[in-house]
Amino acid sequence: MSDLDEKKSLNFHQMELDERILKGIAKLGWLYPTLIQETAIPLLLEGKDVLVRARTGSGKTAAFSIPIIQSILNRKRDANEQQTTAVILAPSKDLCHQTAKVIEDLTIKCGRLVRCLDMCSKVDNATLKHMLADRPDILVSTPAKLLAQLQGGNVNVKECLKTLVIDEADLMFSFGFENDLKEVLGFLPNVHQSVLASATLQKDVIELKTIVLHNPVILRLEEPDMAPTSQLSHYHITAEETDKAAILYSLIKLQLIKGKSLIFVNSIDRCYRLKLFLEQFSIRSCILNSELPAKIRCHTVNQFNLGLYDIIIASDELHVLDPAVKQKKASKKLIKKIARESETESGIARGIDFQLVSNVINFDFPRDINSYIHRAGRTARGNNSGNVLSFVAAEENAFMESVEQHLEAGVDSGEKILKNYQFKMEEVEPFRYRAKDAWRAITKFSIREARIKEIKTEMFNSEKLKSFFEDNPRDLQALRHDRTLHTVKVQEHLGDVPEYIVPDALKHVTGITTKRKKSFVPKKRKFGDKANNPLMVEGIDYGKQKKI
Ligand code: AMP
Repeated sequence: MSDLDEKKSLNFHQMELDERILKGIAKLGWLYPTLIQETAIPLLLEGKDVLVRARTGSGKTAAFSIPIIQSILNRKRDANEQQTTAVILAPSKDLCHQTAKVIEDLTIKCGRLVRCLDMCSKVDNATLKHMLADRPDILVSTPAKLLAQLQGGNVNVKECLKTLVIDEADLMFSFGFENDLKEVLGFLPNVHQSVLASATLQKDVIELKTIVLHNPVILRLEEPDMAPTSQLSHYHITAEETDKAAILYSLIKLQLIKGKSLIFVNSIDRCYRLKLFLEQFSIRSCILNSELPAKIRCHTVNQFNLGLYDIIIASDELHVLDPAVKQKKASKKLIKKIARESETESGIARGIDFQLVSNVINFDFPRDINSYIHRAGRTARGNNSGNVLSFVAAEENAFMESVEQHLEAGVDSGEKILKNYQFKMEEVEPFRYRAKDAWRAITKFSIREARIKEIKTEMFNSEKLKSFFEDNPRDLQALRHDRTLHTVKVQEHLGDVPEYIVPDALKHVTGITTKRKKSFVPKKRKFGDKANNPLMVEGIDYGKQKKI
């Protein structure tokens, strides 16, 4: 058992939290606090100032929100006077929405006792003023938005503020909120609890720390880059190029891949090749690569988190997922404009993180161990479980061996960490024929066409419609990034999977059977019992091993 596992023995019930918060946590399905929550919550409940160095995905939002909610509930036991006692500042509207949503979920069992106002929600000024007059217990805002209301006299927290949180403090500076932030501080009382959360501790953040924090506890809790093997399973399949495509196609169509998946490839062209391949089978996917404008990348990830898409294909992961890396120029002639995207804009990507990714699929095996860890770290976040499934061609074997060595170093039991994902190619031979044809249909020309088409469309979405969508956020929701590109001819019938190509053992699972009786009710299955488990076929336990 690792240190992390041992520490997890402290659960939410042992933190002396109100029953209603515990119910909210249970409803969210969180079994244990994350490392940052386990450490920060008791300190914050004691009233300490805290500097948290943690990245998004660590569970830091709940780490500072839970003590705030607890203290509001405590206060309301004695006096039910409505007062704004907590202010949470974040550097973007999206982050404000995310934070307010976490608070809403955590307080779901508190009735109307804890009121939180997301000041960046799209309401007109008069409505906002009206809502502020109710003195919500918690305000979530960007510094600029809060400052305007403080200056307008619509918010006054001089007498009542108990806790101030500055989230993503380093981005506050990159986004130019420095002056607003300093002015906001002038409207706050001298004594209150402060929390500063930041992914980096750069000079500006240290300066801010001296202004807002008093004798702070500094938590530099570096969570491991990748979840422990108790949470994260690693599988590999040996497969050459077209077999990789056939296996992926059949795993998706046979519903052996459950939940949201991030598929990684090693180049932008491969991104489009795979999208065009899946498109031929009516499998929709979005693309993330460094050619696309940062705003569009963020919007795609946001929609993915909201559950609009199940599959994202990502290339160049260090560029796409690391906000510090500027966007690549796609092609001089075509999209000079893209290069103008500012560094600030790519900074937006930070704080917006993939949520609830069940599977990371390495369609192309990463070229080094860091890259493997970086990709694998996108799943099994915040105590959730996840899988990494890697397709390995003969020439990628050496990379896999080094990853395997790394994963198994320090495992005394000799237990295999990178397990062989059993897949009987013969079982899905008919899928393979279809896949071969579909893979061959994609030419260099169709890839180039797709690449140009996607960028042109996304540039249009990003710039021309920006102001329109600012006023019409609902329409922005309707802007999808998984449109078909159609640079390869799509044959409608390929979207369906005929019954004869589905292995017998999986017919009930996929529901693909033409002989189904009208009133068919599947028998209750007992898992683990071969005789009763239709997921188990000879030699392969689809139920236990193949479903990821
Ligand atoms: P955050 O770092 O606050 O943005 O949280 C990252 C993700 O972890 C979010 O999707 C949360 O819903 C999730 N999360 C936070 N705390 C826990 C927990 N204790 N158990 C499981 N998931 C959590």
